[in-house]
Amino acid sequence: MMDAARTRAWLTAAARLINANSGHLTALDTAIGDGDHGLNLRRGFEAVTAEATGDTPGAVLKAAGNALIDATGGASGPLYGTFFRRAAKALGDAPEVDDAVFAQALAAGLAGVQTLGGAAEGDKTMVDALAPAVTAFAAGGDAAAAAANGRDATESMTARKGRASYLGERSIGHIDPGAASAALLFQALCSVTTD
Ligand code: ADP
Ligand code: MG
Ligand code: MG
Repeated sequence: MMDAARTRAWLTAAARLINANSGHLTALDTAIGDGDHGLNLRRGFEAVTAEATGDTPGAVLKAAGNALIDATGGASGPLYGTFFRRAAKALGDAPEVDDAVFAQALAAGLAGVQTLGGAAEGDKTMVDALAPAVTAFAAGGDAAAAAANGRDATESMTARKGRASYLGERSIGHIDPGAASAALLFQALCSVTTD
C-alpha cells in the first residue's frame, strides 16, 4: 500500500541515498560524461525534499517531478521529473493505492522517460535499471535487486543515448551513471515498501 506519507518517505530515503552516493555518481559520469550527475541529482533531490508535499501519493510525486525539472541541471532532471510526473498522473487523486496500482503508475513513469528520451533497453541509460525494476515491482519481486542487476549490465553496453554516446565503443567498461542513480531510487522504494 502507498499513501502520501509513504510516498514522501520513499523520496526522502532516495535523497539520503543520492547524497551519500553523490561522489560515486559523479565519478561514473566523469568517466563517460561530464562529471556532474552526482551534483545534479543532489541539487534536484534537495529540492524534492523541500517541495514534495501533498495529501495523496499523486500530489507528492507531481510536486517531486516539478521540483526535479526546476532544480536539476542536465539530461537527468527532465527525465526523472517526467518519471515522477507521469507516475503522478496515473495515480490521480487517490488517497492511497495498492501495490498493483502503484506498479502501473511506475510503468507509466517509465513510458514517459522513454517517450521523452527515446532510449530503449540496451542503450546504456537509466532505462536499463528502471525497466527491469518496474517489471519486478509489478510481479512482487525484488525491484531493488532487479535495478542493481540492470545497472551492472550497463557496464558491457555501448552508449547510444546521452553524452556517453559521443564516446561510442569507448563507453564500454563503465557503468552508466543514470542507471546507478535509478538503482538508488529503487533501493529507496524497497526500503519503504518492504515491511
Ligand atoms: P548530462 O549528461 O546532461 O550532464 P546527467 O549527467 O545528470 O546529465 O545525467 C546523465 C544520465 O542521464 C546518463 O547516465 C543516462 O542514464 C541518462 N540519460 C541521458 N540521456 C538519456 C536519454 N535520452 N534517455 C534516457 N536516459 C538518458
Ligand atoms: Mg552529466
Ligand atoms: Mg551536464
